[in-house]
Amino acid sequence: MNFSLDNRTQAVVQIAVSIMLCVVMWTAWRTQKTFPGFGRWTVSKIPHAIGWLLLSLRGSIPDWASIIVANALILTSPILLYEGIRQFRGKPHQDMLHYGVMVLFIGLFSFFTFARPSMNARLAILSICLILVFTRCIVNLIVAVPRELRSSHWFTAAMFSVFDLVMILRLITMISLPALPNPFNADIWQQALFLATIVLPIGGTFGFFMMTNDRLTMELRAAEKEMHQMAMTDFLTGAFNRRAFTEMGMIEYERSRRYGRPLAFLFIDLDHFKIFNDKYGHLGGDVMLQKVVAALHENLRAVDILARWGGEEFAIFLPETSQAGCLQVAEKLRNTISDLSVSFEGEHMKVTVSIGCTIWRQNGESLDAVFSRADGALYQAKQQGRNRVLLI
Ligand code: GH3
Ligand code: MG
Ligand code: MG
Repeated sequence: MNFSLDNRTQAVVQIAVSIMLCVVMWTAWRTQKTFPGFGRWTVSKIPHAIGWLLLSLRGSIPDWASIIVANALILTSPILLYEGIRQFRGKPHQDMLHYGVMVLFIGLFSFFTFARPSMNARLAILSICLILVFTRCIVNLIVAVPRELRSSHWFTAAMFSVFDLVMILRLITMISLPALPNPFNADIWQQALFLATIVLPIGGTFGFFMMTNDRLTMELRAAEKEMHQMAMTDFLTGAFNRRAFTEMGMIEYERSRRYGRPLAFLFIDLDHFKIFNDKYGHLGGDVMLQKVVAALHENLRAVDILARWGGEEFAIFLPETSQAGCLQVAEKLRNTISDLSVSFEGEHMKVTVSIGCTIWRQNGESLDAVFSRADGALYQAKQQGRNRVLLI
């Protein structure tokens, strides 16, 4: 396989590919949700295209434009890619470092163009700069990448690595074979460079799209999870809401029915909470509700299901729990809450609870019947003076 491409043909292909990639990325940037860094990746195609345009005009325009400015623009492109990668990954800019590199690059290029003209030296300098920038791109792409984003980041890093490898091999060849007349036009390097400079930027652009897609998918999954969580839980206390409770309760009920296992149910209501709110304010009441839920959770097993039934009322399913166990748990919860002291605006708030409990009677009794019996038990607990447990 032998490509024979003069510089001008290469330049035309380079410019065409750069413009095409730039337009594709720009469209995505304008019309879709992208992430910080995507703009720099898009813009990076422009200096690359202009650089190649100037390179192709060698001989028709002054050397400072067709050599120095052209190569400086070609180097600007990967620097923008690098900054884009850092931005994408939420890292700070390194602008000063790049201004320094650019000044040094232009100085050395001017020296090897006007003072001691050497194309080999210029190509070596450009290669070294590109190797440094690409290596830093690779490092920033692969270090500490979350699992879900790994494949896209590694794919993009692979594109950069191949380019890096081509540059390193070219540099080694140039150093070991200083007599090479024009390494840029030497067949093997022309072929390798042609493939590298055309195919890899296209692959890299795919990589950037894949990275963006992965991030979007990750965000979508997190949003779905959050929405599910929001639909299941009570915003103030973090306990399950009534809907989730009923759904989960239904599953627990079916399981108990299928295997003939005991199932206990508790209704908890805070005593005189209206008066409590009048005394400490609604905010104090909210804090108390949160602390009560935290205390209840601490005293329950992972399999127990606690929900905010509404207002200052809570409901609990205790799977695999008999009458004796249910009474024991209810008493423990009642004691825990009456011992609970919550500081709020310099005051120590205290509250008590009344608990109505019941056990599911396995003779085909419905859940509604269980709820209403527990409600009756709670009513009686209130009637009998509050801060107590009553089982029916
Ligand atoms: P009882 O001992 O008979 O249960 O007396 P109570 O005052 O608790 O009576 P009731 O159940 O009728 O009152 C419930 C009060 O709970 C009324 C309302 O102000 C308060 N409450 C309901 N939801 C919230 C809430 O989200 N935050 C706060 N701070 N208070 C709430
Ligand atoms: Mg109450
Ligand atoms: Mg109530």
